[in-house]
Amino acid sequence: MMPSQRSPIWHPFTQHALHGPMTRIVRGEGAYLYTADDRRIIDAIASWWVVTHGHCHPHIVRAIQSQAEQLNQIIFAGHTHDPAEAVAAQLLKLAPDGLDYVFFSDSGSTSVEVALKMALGYWHNIGVPRTRIVVMQHSYHGDTVGTMSVGARGVFNAAYEPLLFDVASIPFPAAGHEQATLDALEAACSNKNVAAFIVEPLILGAGGMLMYPAWALKELKRICEAAGVLFIADEVMTGWGRTGTLFACEQADVTPDIACYSKGLTGGSLPLAVTLCRADIYDAHYSSDRSRMFFHSSSYTANPVACAAANANLELWQRGAHERVASVAAMQERLIAPFRADPRFENVRRTGTITALDLKANDAGYLAGIGPKLLAFFERRNLLLRPLGNTIYVMPPYCVTEADLNEIYAGIGAAADALA
Ligand SMILES: *Cc1c(COP(=O)(O)O)cnc(C)c1O
Repeated sequence: MMPSQRSPIWHPFTQHALHGPMTRIVRGEGAYLYTADDRRIIDAIASWWVVTHGHCHPHIVRAIQSQAEQLNQIIFAGHTHDPAEAVAAQLLKLAPDGLDYVFFSDSGSTSVEVALKMALGYWHNIGVPRTRIVVMQHSYHGDTVGTMSVGARGVFNAAYEPLLFDVASIPFPAAGHEQATLDALEAACSNKNVAAFIVEPLILGAGGMLMYPAWALKELKRICEAAGVLFIADEVMTGWGRTGTLFACEQADVTPDIACYSKGLTGGSLPLAVTLCRADIYDAHYSSDRSRMFFHSSSYTANPVACAAANANLELWQRGAHERVASVAAMQERLIAPFRADPRFENVRRTGTITALDLKANDAGYLAGIGPKLLAFFERRNLLLRPLGNTIYVMPPYCVTEADLNEIYAGIGAAADALA
């Protein structure tokens, strides 16, 4: 299946030898993508979980246009600008109480790298020898070497294994087995060398849309606090309404010591990320000694245009986005419910605006043979759904209509008819 004219582009998470030409998209509007050959595709996964309010939201587009004409890039060491100051001030109002400082970067992975460096820098600067990181089984925190180290090990990173640093891992709190997870965290944290525990609150995304309850999240935080271990919440995917609240930690009444937000931070329009931290982590780096500064920067740290997009996003959250989230969550529940009784599926689940279900297949897992077949099936029905192995999930932009969702779930049912 060689494309007639070979493109020099190497695409992410794509096996080119098994893939035809890439779908060429020329325009996005709301929940829809339009292809070069004039098809309208429903974006059921918010273009890899980033597009919250819809493609090309006019309020965000206008903010980008006007900022681009004013100041579109500035070194962020020794300089600041109004869009960044506004994002930081607004974020601190919305984030859990107790987070006091905002560090900007440009992707979810980088925000996690920053979180890990903040944690290690904190212990280093206060003179306590804590360096080990505790992680949760099936986690995903990014594709850089540091974030792969704290994420699930497997086919994704087997080639890079020699570069990955050693971590302690606790089991995923599967329903009915939460106590085993809590006990494992308590045991791991009894090691005085543990610096931090990093976790995706309420939903492990790339690990298969695995969901666990808020009370377990609250307990995880309590155990870390008792052991003096820093608690890092990776809300890169769970933030921005995905779990039903603006941030997932709200549901457990948890204030993380460090929190990472990205994906929906600009409504999915431009790359931007932030790492928020408690004052004492910042204070541990605050000194007349220059060797104690936080040694981290990206060229585009707090890019003004991306910050303007983030401010426009934050304005949308003050103008009714919460109601849209509640309405999408309710529609999702209505449409996923019938699948709970469908014997072709198992683990039918929902948290907030995200639903997921596993198509029963002989070979499960990310490389399951069913995966590419599902992908091709949905593509033919003009649905952008990208199953994780045999796990199909729906994570739409919040402008999705009931008619769109009906088409999405009809497609999922039809896929089971055709392939199960
Ligand atoms: C997507 C994701 C990341 C990585 O974000 P990028 O912007 O792709 O680097 C990190 N953590 C979680 C939980 C994610 O879902």
